[in-house]
Amino acid sequence: MIVLKFGGSSVADAARLRQVADLVLAARAQQPCVVLSAMGKTTDALFAAARAAAAGDLDSALQSVADAFARGDTTARELLANAPEQLLACESALATMREELQVLLRGTALLRELTPRTNDAIVAHGERIATTVFAALLQARGAMVTHLDARCVLRTDARFGAATPIRPAIAALAAQHLAPPLATGSIVVTQGYVGSTSEGFTTTLGRGGSDWSAALLGEALRASEVQIWTDVEGVLTADPRIVPGARPILTLSPAEAAELAAFGAKVLHPATIQPAVEAGIPVTVRHTQRPLGSFTTIDPRRATTARNGLAALATRGPVTVLTMTSTRMLAASGYLARLFAAFGELGICVDLVVTAEVAVSCTVEPDAPLERLVQALDGLARVEILRDRAIVCGVGEGLRTAPHVVERACRALGSITPELIGFGGNERNLSFVVRQSEAALAMQRLHAEFFAERANRAAAAEVSR
Ligand code: ASP
Ligand code: MG
Repeated sequence: MIVLKFGGSSVADAARLRQVADLVLAARAQQPCVVLSAMGKTTDALFAAARAAAAGDLDSALQSVADAFARGDTTARELLANAPEQLLACESALATMREELQVLLRGTALLRELTPRTNDAIVAHGERIATTVFAALLQARGAMVTHLDARCVLRTDARFGAATPIRPAIAALAAQHLAPPLATGSIVVTQGYVGSTSEGFTTTLGRGGSDWSAALLGEALRASEVQIWTDVEGVLTADPRIVPGARPILTLSPAEAAELAAFGAKVLHPATIQPAVEAGIPVTVRHTQRPLGSFTTIDPRRATTARNGLAALATRGPVTVLTMTSTRMLAASGYLARLFAAFGELGICVDLVVTAEVAVSCTVEPDAPLERLVQALDGLARVEILRDRAIVCGVGEGLRTAPHVVERACRALGSITPELIGFGGNERNLSFVVRQSEAALAMQRLHAEFFAERANRAAAAEVSR
């Protein structure tokens, strides 16, 4: 069994849904369970409708909802023009949902009260519209399809708006409702993002939660793969807006993916794929419109494979660098504890830390309350503040012991002198703090060194020498 998840832009209109249907039908032999997001920006529209209703503006609430359903209806008519039976069934299912949603919005507008529970019941309609249309399309194309309400399987707690999945319950419910249709050759189509409590109240996993749904169902089914279909050819070696030559990475370990995500790279959020990772299931990130192109595999089984270089680059900025100096630091125990206690009391997050004999430097977010920090450290250390810096970081398993990586990185930076270097804190991160204005150039130079084809061949030759 495999799980295929398609994001909002992959299911945005009739043309895109046709491509998705082609992909799903081509995967038929692998017993696909299909997880869909809401079409395009439908979820935003439903949130807006809920807010408008709560503010008493029923007209604009109903208008947002009408637009969302009009999109579903138009798409269904376009896709099902030659399948009158499926079209009729789809239209009537959409009409029923629309009526239910209108009742929810009228109630909200009358009471001028929007509880998180009601909000979830409202916004979950986006995914329900998408799966209704898509299941009908697969049927019209002659496939055996089970349109499964995710609320029958995706059991959660009652934290509406940001519910926590209950994984043992999901495994049991998947065995009951999901595995049997898959085993008999039926394609299952269900909603991402949506779940329910044991009492049957609709919940949602939080914005962007469909990836999490896919990983949870993959874990529950012990799927052989979870495929996340989106609009990029996998995870790239760098942000293509900064490095135009960025290209897709073939494989990443979950820890590498997490490290990149922490630096704000466009990767799946590590928490969302955790269920699949824990179950040892590879997660692939693929491009819906270029299904034969490259893609990235986040592979838990390759977690500890050293790669003799870098997997990817990422950058984050601006950050502020603080350098705290005091001769009292010399050979004094407990000094750093007292220093950082002040950060803790002011709620300032410390990121990169480098220490020397009588000084310690660290990076913090640019909006940290530095005046108060300087006051708090009065008598303990003199503080020097450098603003508008950026962290440029290379990530790769086994980096700490890979030959020549640090040397190559420093050489590649050339005239850009890093103000701090972070290395060895873990196996897979090499960080440089540079001026924010030089961050893009630093990224480009590092990328040319580590990811240009020619550079890779040269490095391989050097290592083998
Ligand atoms: N439709 C939901 C959202 O827009 C969930 C998702 O797309 O993952 O947040
Ligand atoms: Mg999404």
